[in-house]
Amino acid sequence: MKNPLDRRRFLASMIACPACASAALAQSPLPHWEYDGARGAENWGQLDNRFQACAVGSQQSPIDLKGAVRADVGGLDIRWEPQPFEVVNNGHTIQANAEAGSRLTLGRTAYELKQFHFHTPSEHAFDGRRTAMEAHFVHAASDGKLAVVGVLMTAGKKHDAFAEIMKAAPKREGEAKLRRPINARSFLPEAREFFRYEGSLTTPPCSETVNWNVLRSTIEVAASDIDTFKGLFPMNARPLQAANRRFLLRNR
Ligand SMILES: [Zn+2]
Repeated sequence: MKNPLDRRRFLASMIACPACASAALAQSPLPHWEYDGARGAENWGQLDNRFQACAVGSQQSPIDLKGAVRADVGGLDIRWEPQPFEVVNNGHTIQANAEAGSRLTLGRTAYELKQFHFHTPSEHAFDGRRTAMEAHFVHAASDGKLAVVGVLMTAGKKHDAFAEIMKAAPKREGEAKLRRPINARSFLPEAREFFRYEGSLTTPPCSETVNWNVLRSTIEVAASDIDTFKGLFPMNARPLQAANRRFLLRNR
């Protein structure tokens, strides 16, 4: 279980379905899933016992970000180090795997940056509106809980780091190393207003272990780089999920 994604899936599956832990230990491979069709998002919960939360969970992601309540949720203390990320095409997205040492601290909990990856269109919506893309910065605490920072992206000015990642992105499943370090902080908008809610992974097994922090401001990336991503993954966003009884908070 050297791959952090496998580890994350393992931890997440244990939490989603404790009875399945032994199955996960036996490392029976998770079934193949897609966004559309028989193995698509509407049917994820039926593909495998370990994916049950996708169908029956009550705190699923993504959601429409509307009706937020202002609250004293503290800030996002982000300490991400520039590094030559390993860029992976995992069959579902383009993902940049992080080296150890980049952190997000929320209150008293420190989370380590594991990876970031992209979706098109954005998974979260602002009052029903989705944007061209969304980046997810996935962090894990020592107890396996996750904190994800989401940044919605629109077509506009060229974004150098995103351009570098798209240039390096393998066309098929596989990995490549960036030629020079990039600073993931360049994906953060200047304004740090954000939405916070308790949610889930937006991909199977949809485990409800994620503290979501989605920035209210968007960033711009080149339309041509969005097209490059769409050439690999035309649509990799889960449909919006019901908010149910959750509180959506905002820090300002
Ligand atoms: Zn994601």
